[in-house]
Amino acid sequence: MLDKKKIKEKLEEERDILLEEMGGMGKLNTDTGEWEATPEEMTYRETDQNDMADRFEDFESRSSMIKVLEARLINILQALKDLNKASFSICEVCKKEIEVARINANPAAKTCKKHLEN
Ligand SMILES: [Zn+2]
Repeated sequence: MLDKKKIKEKLEEERDILLEEMGGMGKLNTDTGEWEATPEEMTYRETDQNDMADRFEDFESRSSMIKVLEARLINILQALKDLNKASFSICEVCKKEIEVARINANPAAKTCKKHLEN
């Protein structure tokens, strides 16, 4: 049997960690509901071209990182919502129960080991 209380705790813990990580890189745009990376605050008044390029690259990498984290967050929020549904822990591909060990390791898993996403 799945220990749903434990799974819920784990999901909430992961959600909080993600939100903290994302909060360090950007913020939630309340108009679009999407996370956006925030540009680094200007530390120096005058910057040369290289600095600007570095900053831009950094912003770009934060933007793509935040997208990855947001996708994970969405999975976790979905899993929290689905936790009490009959479909929770059912493989999307074969409709069989996902291994308990796999759910415990990754409560947001949507497939069994055999149909593991890449
Ligand atoms: Zn399966």
